[in-house]
Amino acid sequence: MRAPRILIAGGGPVGLALAALLSQSRESAPWDVRLIEPQAVPQWSDADVDLRVYALSRASQRILSAAGVWDAIAAKRVSPYRRMVVWEGHHDARIGTLRFDSAEVGEPDLGHIVEDRLIRTVLVDGLAAHDGVSLDLGVELAGVGATPDRVEVATADGDAIEADLLIAADGSASTVRALVDLPAVDVAYEQAAIVTHIATEQPHAMTAWQRFLPSGPIALLPLADGRSSVVWSTSSASAESFSALDDRAFAAALADATDHVLGDVVDVGPRASFPLRALHARRYCAPRVVLVGDAAHTIHPLAGQGMNLGLLDAAVLAEVLEAAVAAGEDPGDLRVLRRYERRQKGRNLKTLLAMDALHRLFSRAGPLLAPLRATGMSLVDANSFTKRRLMREALGVTGELPIAARARPGPIELN
Ligand SMILES: Cc1cc2nc3c(=O)[nH]c(=O)nc-3n(C[C@H](O)[C@H](O)[C@H](O)COP(=O)(O)OP(=O)(O)OC[C@H]3O[C@@H](n4cnc5c(N)ncnc54)[C@H](O)[C@@H]3O)c2cc1C
Repeated sequence: MRAPRILIAGGGPVGLALAALLSQSRESAPWDVRLIEPQAVPQWSDADVDLRVYALSRASQRILSAAGVWDAIAAKRVSPYRRMVVWEGHHDARIGTLRFDSAEVGEPDLGHIVEDRLIRTVLVDGLAAHDGVSLDLGVELAGVGATPDRVEVATADGDAIEADLLIAADGSASTVRALVDLPAVDVAYEQAAIVTHIATEQPHAMTAWQRFLPSGPIALLPLADGRSSVVWSTSSASAESFSALDDRAFAAALADATDHVLGDVVDVGPRASFPLRALHARRYCAPRVVLVGDAAHTIHPLAGQGMNLGLLDAAVLAEVLEAAVAAGEDPGDLRVLRRYERRQKGRNLKTLLAMDALHRLFSRAGPLLAPLRATGMSLVDANSFTKRRLMREALGVTGELPIAARARPGPIELN
């Protein structure tokens, strides 16, 4: 019998991680995996820190470890964060500030800040060492047709690729989702996130700082070189005017917006801005086609969970497919793909709705709302049981986890 052919469209972190996980299980499921990606994969360099960074949970760390790349990532550059401080008014006020510390849950950290380019470079290098996995850069999916026994993909260059299963990891504006007619609920926030790296007067203290402003949340994430990565979500119009400021004026605006929590902003790096949306596909699969990562769900970056959810999708789908192929099932069969959908859709939707609710809660003004929110935050801060639960959720170690995201013995947790 021939090996099942799996085609992944999209070489973002989720598509690449899925290819790596599938390559790890080729002994029990000897499939042929092909990944197509229109762009060149950006190369990581130790000379500068990528503008795009992710706050990766413990579950994501374990998944990247199962994909065979966490040690290589940690050896190059990661920044663990041990504490998290969330506030609305003044960070040193007695009321209205939430403080989390990894020591309270007996963990060395609450997660790691990792560069997008680094994850992708290491995954691509890892894939090059595996048989049965091919990576085709410069190839864009432009058409999809499914028959009962295979899926046919047309590339933008006019080539045809046949597979037993097409996995769409082609991001928020997924071409596959549109072509296969998997409708999605799509809400534009009319907000954008400005990202940059800054040097500050005071050290970041291995702490992720997040302030909620009526215009949107602003986060400072600690980088390994002592600077902080900024994710500043605000209205599209404000993002445009802040982006147009010169570095000095921008630094002053940023220090104000962050309540001078790290003192003055003394240096600002290049800036970029991303429009924000919430999107959730009503179905994650059709016969021989399945969605993962941002193609299935795109969430507000206020709790930095998009990539974490995408890596969980990858781990659950790899696990479901491996079990199906080992049992002699067809990996493109809708009944197999629905097993993945059943495991992931509820969890993803719950996180998306929670982020959306938080976003709306903190963007409302009103004489009573701000004190009520501050009191609520203080009540949570004083309740160590609730705080420990929230930290475990943020670490991604609660609920039904795929094997790749579960704890394993060994030193990998200590980076
Ligand atoms: C400002 C900001 C900050 C964020 N911070 C965090 C964070 O701290 N933590 C976190 O967990 N998440 C974060 N996220 C979310 C995170 O960026 C996304 O969830 C993540 O990038 C999704 O990865 P992906 O591989 O699914 O999609 P993408 O990274 O979008 O990759 C999709 C890939 O598909 C390719 N592609 C597109 N069209 C085609 C086609 N037709 N054929 C083939 N390939 C195609 C693209 O070239 C691309 O390489 C943040 C998002 C934003 C906007």
